[in-house]
Amino acid sequence: MSTDDDSTFGVNDWRRLLRSLGEDPMRQGLEETPDRASRAWTHWTRGYSEDPSAILKTFSDGGENYNQLIVVKKIPVYSHCEHHLAPFFGHAAIGYLPTGRIVGLSKLTRLVNCFAARLQVQERLTQQIAQSLLEHLEPRAVGVVIRCRHMCMESRGIAVAGEETVTSSMLGELETNQAQRAEFFSLAT
Ligand SMILES: [Zn+2]
Repeated sequence: MSTDDDSTFGVNDWRRLLRSLGEDPMRQGLEETPDRASRAWTHWTRGYSEDPSAILKTFSDGGENYNQLIVVKKIPVYSHCEHHLAPFFGHAAIGYLPTGRIVGLSKLTRLVNCFAARLQVQERLTQQIAQSLLEHLEPRAVGVVIRCRHMCMESRGIAVAGEETVTSSMLGELETNQAQRAEFFSLAT
């Protein structure tokens, strides 16, 4: 069956890809690969069907009066670059200065996943996380720092193995307040 409908990518498309690499898609080790690869890509791109506003629903937990920076760091990031479909991965640190709306810490991880599980560039990923926090929590400040290794760069010798790309986005008071910025970076790194 041909799959000319380009909104679906079926078993035959994976087999064609394998053949184009010089492989025999019917050999034992590759027989199940189309199914496995399809399931893996569904997982790696699940973020397209997730809604940041649903993730960031706020609740009252007694933290409403907390008016200091909340910083969560070492949030795992697993994404794929939109230029090569190659993995990039690392960690995010997120900080915000609440005005009453607080989210559970696990929600921040889910928010990162929601945007990371799409085809991305690291700069946009960083901005999308920061913007959606600003929009849904209306905090006084938001800061996001992401450090990732990019396989498309490392494996092709454009970057040294282990080299990290660092991106950041500062919104609200963190954009202008130097002291607050310094506090955020000391907590986030
Ligand atoms: Zn790339």
